[in-house]
Parts: sequence; structure tokens; C-alpha cells
Amino acid sequence: MNTSYQLFIDGVWHEGSDGTKVPVINPATEEIFAEVSWGTTEDANLALKAAQKALSGEWSNWSPTRRGRFLVSVAAAVRRNVSELAMLLTNEQGKPLYQASSEVEDAARYLEYFGGLADKLTGMTIDLGPGQLDYVLREPLGVTVHIAPWNYPLDIFCRSVAPALAAGNTCVVKPAPEISLVTLALASLFQEEGIPAGVLNVIPGGPELGKVLTEDPRVRGIVFTGSVETGRRVLEAAARNITPVISMELGGKAAALVFVKDATELDGPVGNAAGTLAWNAGQSCGQRARWYVRRDLYAPFLEQLAIRARNLLPGPGTRPGVNLGPLASKRHYEKVMGYIRIGIEEGARLIAGGGRPEGFDERGFFVAPTVFADCHNGMRIVREEIFGPVITVIPVDNIDEAVALANDNSFGLSAEIWTSDLATAHSVASKLDVGHVTINGSAAFGFEVPFGGVKLSGLGREGGPEAVLAYTRLKNVWVNLNSK
Ligand code: NAD
Repeated sequence: MNTSYQLFIDGVWHEGSDGTKVPVINPATEEIFAEVSWGTTEDANLALKAAQKALSGEWSNWSPTRRGRFLVSVAAAVRRNVSELAMLLTNEQGKPLYQASSEVEDAARYLEYFGGLADKLTGMTIDLGPGQLDYVLREPLGVTVHIAPWNYPLDIFCRSVAPALAAGNTCVVKPAPEISLVTLALASLFQEEGIPAGVLNVIPGGPELGKVLTEDPRVRGIVFTGSVETGRRVLEAAARNITPVISMELGGKAAALVFVKDATELDGPVGNAAGTLAWNAGQSCGQRARWYVRRDLYAPFLEQLAIRARNLLPGPGTRPGVNLGPLASKRHYEKVMGYIRIGIEEGARLIAGGGRPEGFDERGFFVAPTVFADCHNGMRIVREEIFGPVITVIPVDNIDEAVALANDNSFGLSAEIWTSDLATAHSVASKLDVGHVTINGSAAFGFEVPFGGVKLSGLGREGGPEAVLAYTRLKNVWVNLNSK
């Protein structure tokens, strides 16, 4: 296995200009298993220069069809390498192997979906009357910068790089500091499939590198996924050069409203609550973190959920049967443990978890699936994004109260309703102040459908046919047909 990873700039792999290498830690064992070069301001300059040069090079001669076929060929390469990519993702990020494989599949799906759209971008003509021709060209933005977080490194890379390339842009990508190996491995597949030099550049590094990239006037589009605080900084950086911000996918604190007929119908919502604890160890912006449960269902819901939560199997993601891996980093583990302490201090009642899983020694960033009951909207554990295997449950008297409480949050990414009453389902969907609603389950987080938030959860949409348009700009051309 490769244990030393480098930057990918202008089609070449090399070390960072100041030689800095950062150890990569397996979050399940806390052992260093690889090292990665970090980029500097000089490397950022090299990458931006290469990306700008590539706009007028070989890449500009690739037809949309060729760009689309290329993305589909990378998707096939991703599928051929699913085991290696999934293992690398598990080793550096912690999620169980089957969840890592699912993310690899998602990455391939983004490449295919946007590859398929590459040759479907059109301009238009506008009738201004006799003697005139007016037409509108749809052009790539130019150099786009993509700043990614650590929770879904492959998925998030592909959901913005694929439409950017489909539309003819060039890309400079900065993965999260802790988790960048799998992104570099993916970049090597783009290289093997023949991406022209400079079209895709990947530079691992920390916040300083992100700042340099987002402040540069050569950048004509920024895609950011991460926290609200960093999102604000990126918007400020973009304001300097009036750089278009294509999308900001920020935090979430999704509400789930449980209004099934009676306790015999709790299997679905309870299963989803357990699933949202375990999937990616709760490190998902769409995690259903606040459960508003009708009062007559409250006690059976908690009883069933406590059993399901205790039946989850924490452990290293490479161990068969494990469905709850460690958190991705020590920094994040300490943050989540801090929130558990806050929940206890705030008076919430623990019905499962509340610390490290039983029987685990000190090694690995493991947190037991944790459920807090008897919560209310005034608590920090209900208001703030914890981003771990921790959820809160709140009893409510009626659907209007549930909707009001669900909307009483500064985030507005996603929400879920459980009911067999269709009228309630649709009316609640229209009242929830979020960008994404699911009814009787959780799905449709990307590819063919628009995904993104309102309020502090961000702006812009990723996925769906319109997403690719955000990576283009319109140019109007007017012609005087009567000139001699
Ligand atoms: P973060 O904001 O700490 O970091 C995100 C990225 O920004 C990293 O690559 C980081 O190095 C970089 N960065 C830091 N400072 C920067 C600066 N000044 N300029 C430019 N870049 C800078 O977020 P994180 O902890 O890596 O990720 C977790 C957050 O991401 C959570 O809030 C989560 O909800 C959010 N998220 C949202 C979605 C979504 O689709 N809405 C998806 C995944 C994660």
C-alpha cells in the first residue's frame, strides 16, 4: 500500500514546496499509517496558474460529448477500484467498510450523472425584431476552487468536481486536512483515464491554504462544504474579488416528526433513528438529530429506540458486522464528548450511551450511540450541530407544535416526517423551512435531485439537472444584420 501521498498539480505528483509532510492517523487505532504532503501558498499559486493555463489548452478542444464520456470512464475506474478506495476511506476516516463502499458508489454515480449532462447544456436565441440577431452563449466560469470537509470526502469531491468539469471548467480542490488520501487516490484515477494537465489539481492543506485559494482573483467560482463559521470566512474572501460562490453547503440539525397512527407503526421511525446514529457515526449534515414525537408515541418510541441503539455494534470499520465506526479525528471526538457532558448538565435524560462504548479501551475515537430524552428547544444539544452518534428526543402534543419547533432552529437543511396521512405529509412538507424533506424514510440526498439548505445551512444546490448550470455563465451576443 502507498504510504506517502503527494500533491497533484498540473498533471504531476510532487511534494509541497516547503517539504511539509503530515502524519495520517487511523481513527480506530490511533496509529499513523501514512503521511501526506501539504501545500503552501506557492503550491496554491502553481495550481491556480496550471488551472488557468489549462482553460485555453487541450481541454478547450474537448467537445462536451468527450468531457461527458471522460467522466463516465472515471466512474467505471472508480467501480473497478471500489475495494481499494473503500479500504483507504475506512482507514483514514473510520466509517465501516460497507458504508465506505456505498460512498464510493455515490462518487461513481455523481460522475455518471453529470457526465450524462455534459452534452445537454444549451444557450438560446432571443427575438429582438427584424434586422437583429441575439443569442445567448453558456460558457464555463473558468477556474473553480472546491473546499471540502472530512465526512464524505469522495461523495463531496464528485458532486462538485463532476459538474464543474462537465461544464468545461478547471478545478483546484482542497480536501480537509485530516482526510485527504482518498481524494488523492481518486485524482490518480482521473490521471489514469487521461485528464489533460492542469484541469484537475488537488492540494491537501489546512485553513491557510483554503484562505489563499478563496482570496485569489484568478478564481471565478467557489464551492464550499463545511461549517458555518468557515463558510462566513469564505464568503468574505469571495467578496474581495466578487468571485461567484456556486454553493455553500453548511451545517444541519435535521428534525424528524413522528406522527404515525399508533405504536404498532413505530418500526420505521425507530429504525431510522438508530440508522442516523450509526451511519457515518452521525457525522452527516443531514443526520436526523432532533426527534419530535407525538406524546402518545413517546414512551414506546424511547423504549424501542433504546433497544435498537444498544444493539448497534461499534468497532473498527474493517471488522465484519460493525455498523458504527469511530469518529474521524481526536479533535472531533473531544467536541462530541463535550456535547454529551453538556446534555447531562442541561438535564436531558440518557436512555442509551453517554460516553465510550462498553468494553473499549482508551484507543480509537469511539463514542457509544447516545440518545437523550426529555429534551427541549432551549437546550444546546437540541440547538447546535453535534455531528456525532448523538440524538435528542422531544415530546410534542400536535403537528403544529412539531412544525413550529422543527423550524425553530438556525439551520434549515433537511427534515423528515413519519405519517400515513398523505394530507398531513404534504402540508407539513410545505411548511418546513428547509431545502430537503423526506416522508416516511430518508433518501434523495443527491445525484438526480437538488440538495442544499436555507438559513445558516447555506445557499445553492448540488445535484439535479440545474446544478450544472451554476458552473456556467451566460454571455449575450447581439448582431446588427443590416450593417454593410
Ligand atoms: P470546516 O468548516 O472546519 O472545514 C471545511 C473545509 O474548509 C476544510 O477543508 C478546511 O480546511 C477549510 N477551511 C478552514 N478554514 C478556511 C478558510 N478560512 N478559508 C477556506 N477554507 C477553509 O468543516 P469540517 O469540520 O471539515 O466539516 C464539518 C462541517 O461540514 C459540518 O458543519 C457539516 O454539517 C458540514 N457539511 C455540510 C454538508 C452539506 O451538504 N450541507 C455536507 C458535509 C458536511
